[in-house]
Amino acid sequence: MKSIKSRHKRLLHVKTPTGKAIRYVRRKLGVPVCADCRAALPGVARSSNLIARTKKRPSRPFGGVYCSGCSRIRFKAAARAQ
Ligand SMILES: [Zn+2]
Repeated sequence: MKSIKSRHKRLLHVKTPTGKAIRYVRRKLGVPVCADCRAALPGVARSSNLIARTKKRPSRPFGGVYCSGCSRIRFKAAARAQ
């Protein structure tokens, strides 16, 4: 097993039905960032599978991918291309 003493990994203790305790190493979820400027995206949930995908991020185009400033640039570029 590789080193588990890392800030990006989380140790998970699980008991099997037979009572045997095992340890998992799970990666911690990072902060969602903008695909262009790498700024942290507000309004985007970190949790992996507890919330529906549509409820995790803004419902506008590029929601959850680009920040508001970067998506505004893309909206303008798309409107000018037409
Ligand atoms: Zn951005």
